[in-house]
Amino acid sequence: MERRRETRCIHGEAHRFKDGLGAISVPVYQTASFRHTEPGHNGSGFDYTRESNPTRQYLEETIASLEGAAGAVAFSSGMAAVAACFELLRPGDEVICSDDLYGGTVRLLRDVCGKNGVAVTYADTTDLAKLRAAVSGATRAIYVETPGNPMMRITDIRACAALAHEAGALLMVDNTFLSPYWQNPLALGADIVLHSGTKFLAGHNDTIAGFLCAADQPLCDRLRLIAKTVGNTLAPFDAWLVLRGLKTLHVRMERQQENARKIAAWLRAHDAVTEVLYPGLPEHPGYEINRRQSRGAGSMISFRVDTPETARRVLERVRLVIFAESLGGVESLLTYPLTQTHADVPAGIRERLGITDTLLRLSVGLEHADDIIEDLRQALEG
Ligand SMILES: *Cc1c(COP(=O)(O)O)cnc(C)c1O
Repeated sequence: MERRRETRCIHGEAHRFKDGLGAISVPVYQTASFRHTEPGHNGSGFDYTRESNPTRQYLEETIASLEGAAGAVAFSSGMAAVAACFELLRPGDEVICSDDLYGGTVRLLRDVCGKNGVAVTYADTTDLAKLRAAVSGATRAIYVETPGNPMMRITDIRACAALAHEAGALLMVDNTFLSPYWQNPLALGADIVLHSGTKFLAGHNDTIAGFLCAADQPLCDRLRLIAKTVGNTLAPFDAWLVLRGLKTLHVRMERQQENARKIAAWLRAHDAVTEVLYPGLPEHPGYEINRRQSRGAGSMISFRVDTPETARRVLERVRLVIFAESLGGVESLLTYPLTQTHADVPAGIRERLGITDTLLRLSVGLEHADDIIEDLRQALEG
């Protein structure tokens, strides 16, 4: 019988990691190379750590298991994973992206993919008619984040997969915001799932990592060839840090979501807060679709305050919550998308989406919910 995902967070897919000594924690194979036993044969199946390494391989198998993937490839950062994904495209190909997208991905598409001849079209992927209208004969990929960043908009993954496949394109889903604990896009028809492992997977704001998970083995092999050739694979010690973080993924995700629900409800009732964007609130426009395609709403909340001065005051006055980029860790972090994560998104798109000087994004951590609320209260009212 297949083990439940809580168990697989801790034990991975393999029954035990076989190191010969019975170590419970997977060892860090801090080696660049592996001995060959005779010409053309390496005893262990490992040659050189840029290509493969036992610690990283165990992590990749664990992530693949959690996402229900044929295989996963671990990268030195989320952006390295995103960049490797777009290496599947050729000059003249077009990718259609959600307009509610991580700012670093927008920069990559503009400054790197553009120069390589890959055309990028931004579309409101939450509106299927608009998405369908954007598809052209050159479309080779549809790339979505759901919930989107930072507007928390929900895209219907099943419908996008059908549309992509009809057009002969791949559906790529950045699943960083919900993690495989809450959402498995491959089961909904996606071809590739991306993660910034820096966020919920590692979970402790202490390392940088990224993953690509593929629906089938040939696609996984293509991605692995790119990774080992380009050389942006994850180092063994960082792989070990992610493995250690993963052991508590399920507990963190549940508690962080519980905290987020309380905080979203509190924010909604506050006079200085004019809008709360959290897909766990029934009035959220994507509430029903998110419920159909995931098991939870996660712990990312964006909210709008009454004036830019209030936004500035909150950022300057928070004491427990940290004003910093990133998300998904045990520490609650508050971000100002306008000048931080989304500074590289064109101003016109930012305005159309509502990424303005009154928007704040909160990654709810594992502190006591009441302490986070107290801190936000003193910052908002101080
Ligand atoms: C952080 C993030 C990335 C980039 O990941 P890094 O690990 O910072 O390189 C990509 N997508 C999303 C949604 C992110 O939050």
